[in-house]
Amino acid sequence: KTVLIGGGSGFIGTALTNALKSKGYLVRVVSRKPGPLNMSWTELEKKGLPENCTAVVGMAGQNVFDITRRWTAGFQQNVWASRVLTTRTLASVINRAEEKPKVFISMSGVGYYKPSATEEYTEDSPGGDFDFLSKLAKDWEDASKLPSSCNSVRRVIIRSGVVLGREGGMINNLYWPFFFGVGGPVGSGQQYFPWIHIKDMVDLIIYSMETEKVSGVLNGVAPQVITNKEFAKAFGKALWRPAFIPVPTFVLNAAFSEERAKIMTEGQKVIPKRTLELGYKFKYQDIDSTCKSCSAFIYSD
Ligand code: NDP
Repeated sequence: KTVLIGGGSGFIGTALTNALKSKGYLVRVVSRKPGPLNMSWTELEKKGLPENCTAVVGMAGQNVFDITRRWTAGFQQNVWASRVLTTRTLASVINRAEEKPKVFISMSGVGYYKPSATEEYTEDSPGGDFDFLSKLAKDWEDASKLPSSCNSVRRVIIRSGVVLGREGGMINNLYWPFFFGVGGPVGSGQQYFPWIHIKDMVDLIIYSMETEKVSGVLNGVAPQVITNKEFAKAFGKALWRPAFIPVPTFVLNAAFSEERAKIMTEGQKVIPKRTLELGYKFKYQDIDSTCKSCSAFIYSD
């Protein structure tokens, strides 16, 4: 059986590809770059889904935190289009396919929910309507909608928290500052820090693929609710380094511009209610063991 992953060449996609291969799946990646497993977005539009395609996963997206790119209208358009238009393309090839996949899984982010010190969010909570990132999440999720002719295809949306793993994402950016003992919380550190271990993200995607009863929105966050300060403490401890030098909010606002710095300076308390109800069992339940596994140069599992 083949799994098609749009944007599967990145941090989560590479880990997912390896896990799928070890389970005997064939993987095709839709990418802007050539490669033995890859097909381009134009090729996908022209030729449609590969043969025997059992699942389609959408995870393409311009890195929001590319510090070399200023937060201009043009870059924001790029951030939006790289998610929304690629997801629409996946939905349209599924619609056109004679032999439909069983499931279409599309990524989204917890930025859908409004940062708050008091609110608690489950998958049923409102959101998607207040700032650039929340509207982006809404448009991204809407882009994965399928017409009624695709009723046999289960649609799953994973609203992900910060994905923690040694090979990429936020840990990759924080590793060296923390290693040299200059890491610490962001601002007051009191903001929530919704997180998930890369292994759980990959397993949750595969669980959603293989479990018939899973459909709709799932919060891709570990059940343990922590603050940014608690994360900094755990990561510092895992690296045997102090982690008390706070990064002032204004520095991040200046470096990233306020609108995207919000991802770090503000946070949401997100509960994986449906994810747990639908039977997913988290392997990494606490931030200490997660940070420990992210601190090693090589970690198994
Ligand atoms: P990466 O940045 O590692 O990979 C994303 C992939 O998207 C890239 O490999 C790239 O593939 C493709 N891509 C980048 N820019 C564009 C573009 N302009 N047009 C088309 N494709 C593009 O991301 P992650 O693996 O970390 O995350 C995957 C998805 O999950 C992303 O959409 C991200 O927003 C989302 N997410 C991630 C979180 C995290 O903590 N990592 C948290 C919440 C959501 P190629 O160069 O091969 O075309």
